[in-house]
Amino acid sequence: MPNLKILFLAAEADPLVKVGGLGDVAGSLPQALQKAGDIDIRLAIPYYGAIQERRYPLTTVATCAVPHRSGVIPAKIFTTRLNDLIVYFVSGAPIPPEAPVYSTDNLRDGYKFTFYSLAALQLAHAIAWAPDILHANDWHTAPAIYAMHRQRDPFFADTASLLGVHNLPYMGDGAGPALQGFNLPPAAGSSLPWWAQDMPLPLGLLSADHIVAASPTYSREILTPEFGSGLESFLKTRKAHISGILNGIDTSRWDPSTESAISAQYDNDHLDLRRENKTALLREFGLSREPDLPLLGMVTRMDPQKGIDLVPPALRMIEKQGWQAIFLGTGMPAVEKAIRRLEKDFPDRLRAAIRFDALLSRRIYAGADILLIPSRYEPCGLTQMIAMRYGCIPLARTTGGLKDTIRDKDAGNDSTGFLFKRATPQDLAKTIIRSFDAYTSPEAWRRMQRNGMVQDFSWERFARQYAALYQTLAENRQKEFSHGQ
Ligand code: ADP
Repeated sequence: MPNLKILFLAAEADPLVKVGGLGDVAGSLPQALQKAGDIDIRLAIPYYGAIQERRYPLTTVATCAVPHRSGVIPAKIFTTRLNDLIVYFVSGAPIPPEAPVYSTDNLRDGYKFTFYSLAALQLAHAIAWAPDILHANDWHTAPAIYAMHRQRDPFFADTASLLGVHNLPYMGDGAGPALQGFNLPPAAGSSLPWWAQDMPLPLGLLSADHIVAASPTYSREILTPEFGSGLESFLKTRKAHISGILNGIDTSRWDPSTESAISAQYDNDHLDLRRENKTALLREFGLSREPDLPLLGMVTRMDPQKGIDLVPPALRMIEKQGWQAIFLGTGMPAVEKAIRRLEKDFPDRLRAAIRFDALLSRRIYAGADILLIPSRYEPCGLTQMIAMRYGCIPLARTTGGLKDTIRDKDAGNDSTGFLFKRATPQDLAKTIIRSFDAYTSPEAWRRMQRNGMVQDFSWERFARQYAALYQTLAENRQKEFSHGQ
């Protein structure tokens, strides 16, 4: 019998359904934990239309009734296996097949996600499987933790709760009435600020036994006014129960030595071959082949969080330097427009692909020399890890997971990239120039590339940290329980 039982909740999980970074995490972490051994981890996820279309073989495991002010709402739960992972699909009227994973209406999403969160708790009951840990993620599944905490159901007496925070500013603002409909009232009189007392994420932060931020640095940053989104004073009261664990990357899916999307596969002993990918990328975008000019790349959501607005003025400041650039991204129209304008200003050396294109992202990681990541905040960040694995040097702001994973050139022989502190075009421009200087010395550059390529960003490493945390939380819970007897 496995030692620990974990119920893992997330609004998306690759390859079932993926919208963003949370999908990467929820798609990889449960499987990595399962491989770590001695853990029976099971994933429950809404049975979206997008999943139904994929026709997984299903068995019905439970039919539950979720209490709502308007009357009881039935939930039907199916199960399937994804490799060896047990997955539960929660279905019911609040999760209509035509609804996207996320809409722009938090009230509607709140209704859907709260129903799913509560049905997941009922599922545990129905199959008589009380987890040692309920691991929820972000605002969508935080209601499960709040409900478990409020309801004090003896069935969950031994269950500890863990809330993963992947992006603090997304708190589920506007979803409060949906929670109340499911008999989850605001936490009036609690230590939360008044405006947050009916929001799902803050309610989860209030009631979780432990909070895990997506990197050690982010776990400290959220205690400050700059990154705390107004919750910093409250979060300080929970400081003893907050830690940070980085996300990993799937190192078998991100591997330049087996990468099928690029012209020349390579590893850190054959970095010469990488040049072919740079040439092919320049050709693809109709840029002249100038092997001695550094090629800047970007693969990003076009959002102010990512600091892209710093890039146009910074590049204009270094107009006189020799460089080329290929950017891939999509997102806010205003940011996209600014990048388009930049492309017009530098017609013979900058190209922008305004779209989501997974294969092109791989060609950029494998062909660009430097990846720009000027994020204003970055809970963890994956692009810097992928870039390093592909021998593309990250140039990033010192924040969150970027700070935890990149060692600046000036740090010594084991450096892996370039970091800058202030979110200003001047600092970005200065750092780009610093990277160009380093680029002129091929031996030192290669050393940095190799240093990055041999870093261990595998999920296995971070899953071990989660496994240790689960163990501690379960033991603490046991102790509390025996003291309370
Ligand atoms: P976030 O989750 O905040 O967007 P991350 O760095 O954690 O940022 O993860 C971004 C992931 O999405 C990476 O795998 C990156 O390669 C991918 N990505 C971002 N934008 C694009 C795009 N336009 N086309 C293809 N992949 C993209």
